[in-house]
Amino acid sequence: MDFSFSEEHKMVQDMARKFADQELKPIAARIDQEHRHDDEVVRKMAENGFMGVAIPVEYGGAGMDYVAYALILTEISRACASTGVIMSVNNSLYGFPVNTFGTEEQKIRFNTPVASGEAHGCYGLTEANAGSDPAGMKTTAVLDGDSWIINGEKKFITNGNIARYAVIAAVTDKAKGYKGITQFVVDLENTEGFSVGKVEEKLGIRGSGTSELVFQDARIPKDSILGDPGSGFRQMLTTLDSGRIGIASQALGIAKAALEESVGYSKERVQFGKAISSFQATQFKLADMATRIDASELLILKAAWLESNHLPFEREAAQAKMFASDTAMDATVEAVQILGGYGYSIEYPVERLMRDAKITQIYEGTNEIMRVVIARNVLGMR
Ligand SMILES: Cc1cc2nc3c(=O)[nH]c(=O)nc-3n(C[C@H](O)[C@H](O)[C@H](O)COP(=O)(O)OP(=O)(O)OC[C@H]3O[C@@H](n4cnc5c(N)ncnc54)[C@H](O)[C@@H]3O)c2cc1C
Repeated sequence: MDFSFSEEHKMVQDMARKFADQELKPIAARIDQEHRHDDEVVRKMAENGFMGVAIPVEYGGAGMDYVAYALILTEISRACASTGVIMSVNNSLYGFPVNTFGTEEQKIRFNTPVASGEAHGCYGLTEANAGSDPAGMKTTAVLDGDSWIINGEKKFITNGNIARYAVIAAVTDKAKGYKGITQFVVDLENTEGFSVGKVEEKLGIRGSGTSELVFQDARIPKDSILGDPGSGFRQMLTTLDSGRIGIASQALGIAKAALEESVGYSKERVQFGKAISSFQATQFKLADMATRIDASELLILKAAWLESNHLPFEREAAQAKMFASDTAMDATVEAVQILGGYGYSIEYPVERLMRDAKITQIYEGTNEIMRVVIARNVLGMR
């Protein structure tokens, strides 16, 4: 048992921390208030290898492991959770399936521009009536000569309004149920019949776009298919398992920021002639936050280590995502409480942290669904 980081992991963590403090922290409030992300920042992140951390170097990525990915994403999200989810989607929900299930040609064509920061990717799974139960999706793909014809609408898609490329899931054989779902990788910019639908107004992560993807008789080349017809549902489960390590890291970053803000403020704020950090009520809040943050980190690093070593990690990823996101929610609520009225004001970052934390309990599988996944593993129902 060795709890120390390798030199490489220490180096990337340090690099990401400096980047986050210098480039992201100063603009995070503006990104949130303007509901608009700064593409220049994403380009700089790509220069540092953050947009394709675990994507092999030959496809534009940094060729690192998932521990490095978790460490970097935590630091980025500590400064700006909106940037964290943009990074997470490009790496996990888009980059991972292309890299894992794509052909050599697909990896070169579709991963290189996204990992190098030239373009954004997105992942279209959710539909208006198919969220926790994606097998209920209605989007169809029908083979017509040398093309697939796509019809349907995807909902709540991160980066959907800015992405050039998308991995999307569609029904190719309705009679086969979930075994009739197939995934495709699509160049949205060159797809007639595709349009961006409604862009959501959101509670948090406002610096990341969330939109509908609309396909109306959209024709995509036959070779857009990822893997074999009918393999989409299995691909999707593996993609989400991996993605959950990213969302857990995003949540951890938010929770760490909440603790830092709480410690700093409570040492400065004087009431009844004493710093509020001297009150046991404040200290207990800080102690609980710190303990849950450390436990989240251990769960995340274990899941990331398992994935990096090609060992099963479904249960651990779900546990990490569930625990870290609940920790982020609780820690940010407590941070607002510690800052009192100032915590409720946009003058301080903790109200943003609280709004940003909520989504980590919902996307890439709600925490109720995480419990379903964990329980299935515990009961051996696989
Ligand atoms: C900001 C944002 C970004 C997103 N980004 C993406 C993206 O990039 N790509 C994408 O495909 N999707 C994305 N999503 C969609 C997200 O993954 C879904 O919203 C999420 O999976 C939940 O689905 P739903 O909203 O339909 O809720 P529902 O599935 O309708 O769930 C509603 C409630 O019922 C509970 N519930 C449902 N089934 C069960 C069950 N079996 N047992 C117990 N409780 C249950 C849920 O836990 C939840 O509390 C995003 C969503 C948001 C808000």
